[in-house]
Amino acid sequence: MYECPNCGGNLKFDISSQMLKCDYCLTTHNPYDITKEKDAEESGSLSGNNNEFNVTVFTCPQCGGEILSTDTSAAEFCSFCGASTILDSRIRKEKRPSHIIPFKKTKEDCKKAYISRMKRAIFAPDELKDEKYIDGFRGIYVPYWAYSITQKGPVLMKGEKSYSKGNYTYTDKYDLSGDLDAYYYDLSYDASSSFADSISEQIAPFNVRDSKKFTPSFLSGFYADTADVDSSLYKDDAINLANATSYSKIKKTPAFSDLRLSTEGNNFATTMTLHTFCEKPERVLYPVWFMSYRKEGRIAYATVNGQSGKVAADIPVDIKKYLFGTFLLALPIFFLLNGLFTIKPDILLSCSGILASFTLIIYLMESAAILRRDKRMDDRGYLHRQSGKPKNGQKKEKQITVNELLSYETGNGKFPGFVSGDVAIGVSVLVRLFAPVSDLWYYGGAIVSFLGILLTNMSIIKKYNILATRKLPQFDRKGGDDRA
Ligand SMILES: [Zn+2]
Ligand SMILES: [Zn+2]
Repeated sequence: MYECPNCGGNLKFDISSQMLKCDYCLTTHNPYDITKEKDAEESGSLSGNNNEFNVTVFTCPQCGGEILSTDTSAAEFCSFCGASTILDSRIRKEKRPSHIIPFKKTKEDCKKAYISRMKRAIFAPDELKDEKYIDGFRGIYVPYWAYSITQKGPVLMKGEKSYSKGNYTYTDKYDLSGDLDAYYYDLSYDASSSFADSISEQIAPFNVRDSKKFTPSFLSGFYADTADVDSSLYKDDAINLANATSYSKIKKTPAFSDLRLSTEGNNFATTMTLHTFCEKPERVLYPVWFMSYRKEGRIAYATVNGQSGKVAADIPVDIKKYLFGTFLLALPIFFLLNGLFTIKPDILLSCSGILASFTLIIYLMESAAILRRDKRMDDRGYLHRQSGKPKNGQKKEKQITVNELLSYETGNGKFPGFVSGDVAIGVSVLVRLFAPVSDLWYYGGAIVSFLGILLTNMSIIKKYNILATRKLPQFDRKGGDDRA
């Protein structure tokens, strides 16, 4: 806790004034003027090298998720798994970030942005729009690695241009030279493995123009995530991004626009040519409003960028609402089509077969996506922490194999979509193959097939809900309690 110099009350960072504000006497104070006694001791005892600061670490007894605070008063729920429980707390030294973007959007702003986003989500469960639930937004500073990159010096490139005249193809070759002076400031990548890359990408970007030199009192009244992803992980991404940006800028120069430039598509060569140099990455903290919604063993997150107000939310669908909505939509279409066409029974059966195939494909694609995400194959920060060795740069995304998908589908009997889809296709194909004389076979087959499609569709919605939510997290930070 930060004490008010005026009355000894509790100081918290106040978003609208961008100052520390006292709960009791309402005076405001400059964050840089206020330190805890402990902070001061710290910097003294470390002989000027104060690159650490004291924080209270709250650990969730259920999922092991960690959240940091400068305050010691208890945290009553876990943002990662949604558990309402008193979190265990202890004091720890954390590496000091170099910069912070303080919250610009207040909790009220954040709620407003979220509510207007949810207005468009007509099939969302009512709980997600409930005021009590929305009040659960918590201000969390998420750690990022910020890479700064310079490109300075003379640049030599070769350029080529080919064109045809009559029966000949001519190639003109050019030597291009120039001076490059480019600076990329704070290209930032999510440094917390508990904060999924997919979320940080959705609420990006943060504008570094608002960033301030870090001092711990900024955190007062908020929480922060631990930075547990190695700084080397995203270095090559930052370099590649700078290379690609400068390269396309050079290419857009009117005189060069129709030339093939020599180092195109080769990042090492581009790095050499452009003198790309990556400075030592810095720890920075960016503000995020964060809320979680737990239902049936799954969790959904809603996040709001605390600087820009951009919303990213996992929005599941309420099946009852959805079925009612599609029923209302289907009625007029049915009567319209019924008045316009008469379909022969064999064509009807073919249609149901084709429809069933499409439904099954969509179903399987959803399954693969769920499998991918539950294994967090798209989250490099997480994968990196799991494997322990730096996978520098390569954005090599693993793919789900057919075998994995089939064993996942047959392994849990919960979703009949795979079976009903197969039955729907099978019935249409069989009836058409045997080509019985009586039309009744065709109608019967079509009915069975459409029922199968309906079942698969129900499963698709269930799968969609799984896709719109996440597996409950399980952090194994200290190497103990390893639930494989
Ligand atoms: Zn006061
Ligand atoms: Zn938890």
